[in-house]
Amino acid sequence: MGYEDITFFVDTFSEALEKGHIHAYFQPIYRAVTGKMMCAESLARWIDPEKGLFSPALFIPALEESGLIFELDMEILRQACAFYNEMREKGTPIPSFSVNLSRRDFKHDDLYDRVISTLDKYNVPHDAINLEVTESLMIDEPEVFRDVLQKFNNAGFTMWMDDFGSGYSSLNVLKNYNFGLMKFDMVFLRDFTLKGRKLLASLINMAKSLSIHTLIEGIEHEEQQQFMLDAGCEALQGFYFSKPCAKDELSSMISEGKIVCEDTDDRAYWEQIGKFNFLSANPIEEFAGIDAPEDKAAEHTDTVSSLALLECNKGTVKYIYANEAYRKRIKYLGFNTIEEIENDFNSQRTEQSFMMKKFMEDIIEQGDIKIAEYTAEDVYLRLSGICLAKKKDCAMVAYNLTTFETEQEVEKANQLIYICNSLFATYEVAVLVYPESGIVNRIHTSNNLPTFDKESSINESLRKFCLSQVDEVDQERYLQFLDLNTAIERVENSPKGFIQDKFRMHINGTPNTWYSVRLSRVPAINEPTYLLTIQSM
Ligand code: C2E
Ligand code: MG
Ligand code: MG
Repeated sequence: MGYEDITFFVDTFSEALEKGHIHAYFQPIYRAVTGKMMCAESLARWIDPEKGLFSPALFIPALEESGLIFELDMEILRQACAFYNEMREKGTPIPSFSVNLSRRDFKHDDLYDRVISTLDKYNVPHDAINLEVTESLMIDEPEVFRDVLQKFNNAGFTMWMDDFGSGYSSLNVLKNYNFGLMKFDMVFLRDFTLKGRKLLASLINMAKSLSIHTLIEGIEHEEQQQFMLDAGCEALQGFYFSKPCAKDELSSMISEGKIVCEDTDDRAYWEQIGKFNFLSANPIEEFAGIDAPEDKAAEHTDTVSSLALLECNKGTVKYIYANEAYRKRIKYLGFNTIEEIENDFNSQRTEQSFMMKKFMEDIIEQGDIKIAEYTAEDVYLRLSGICLAKKKDCAMVAYNLTTFETEQEVEKANQLIYICNSLFATYEVAVLVYPESGIVNRIHTSNNLPTFDKESSINESLRKFCLSQVDEVDQERYLQFLDLNTAIERVENSPKGFIQDKFRMHINGTPNTWYSVRLSRVPAINEPTYLLTIQSM
């Protein structure tokens, strides 16, 4: 670019502004997990009727040099506010806009007032405008910058640090200034080597631990998108999704449904969820504000947690996200895919799904960390969960599914199983009965008694069991006692929540032995559930 070009921009800027040759273009920024548009970045374009379109790389330096940049930035802000207002009136509001400020703007004492009056003119709430500033700015005049930044923060704006990683990138900047979001420069994606990815991931990790939201710009490939999602980066921007475009183009994409905007409820909900740090050694504890014991932190540093986000919407559970480690680990639970585990969860047909649902409801209700430990095919599993956010009928829960690794933990799990087994060992038989779906499900038997779980009806399975195990003298009484047409009512009306009687059986080969049979109501989620136990007296 020659000197003539610089003077061209400086000389003709005021005229171009007046004639409407300066346009704000808008590039959508998407919430990584939902794919909904949460913001649009406003980017300046100079469209000369004769010379065509100039990119900011040409005119920004010229305008910065001459100090005219302030008027450009205020014009772009004005157009963003006007567009906000226009979309709101149309009934399809764009949640927020980001606007770039130049370092030179901070030399203008009236920066703050000009911004406020522009928003007022179009009645734009302050939290709908995010102000992007690059870090190079703070090196110049740290005090002035800090004061103005604070003023904007106090007025409800969110300050975004733009182009992090492109220049000097001092981490101190994050400590010393109050930024609500860190925007990672596309240089990280240009150098998408293992080293580059590790660096980016740990920066996201760090930002989150400081409660700073994260965004990356310059996504051009699916692979980059997936990586950023796994790293827990909250927001994505790049040509892979959308290029900057004129306002009418963006408006049509929204009205045609090609782009879906996030609503206000969504925003609060997701911002809360965005704080969850996928890359922490102890994500669940960190979210709850608990410092993990040091040895535990050390032990896990090199293992990725298996994490999933599950949304519970009016009782229906949906996996919103699961990382690779989690997808692998669900095999221990007997599932091959996320769809399978999700279907099981919602079918409420198996023992496990009942437990999982109850576990989730406890988490949502009580708000603190909950831990469940169990075994599956000789593997010890620990599921810890926490509720991240709630809105209307929805709640988002984060799960961390770990397998026990240390000897101490295995020992603990063994003990747990031992206790469970010895509890059940006091029964000859324990069966769960679901009258509504007409199913019985045996959960324990002390010897190899035949199962009648698969019979056509509950009464049929009870009858078969009775004929084969109960002494003839007591068979009729047994069938009457467990006749489901009346038994359920008797249980429900009993003050203790169960009915009990004794019968002679030959379960263990010895006839004329007395057994106590009990039918009790057990806590369940979807349908009433009863536990039938048989215990020798
Ligand atoms: P920026 O603020 O970092 O804006 C992002 C730039 O990256 C934009 O370039 C955008 O078009 C480009 N970009 C977005 N996604 C991708 C992608 O996937 N691949 C690639 N290769 N590029 C992508 P643009 O619009 O040319 O703006 C360049 C820079 O000029 C901006 O960088 C910003 O620093 C400055 N700028 C633009 N408009 C304004 C303004 O109104 N005021 C001020 N002060 N600076 C502005
Ligand atoms: Mg920017
Ligand atoms: Mg940038």
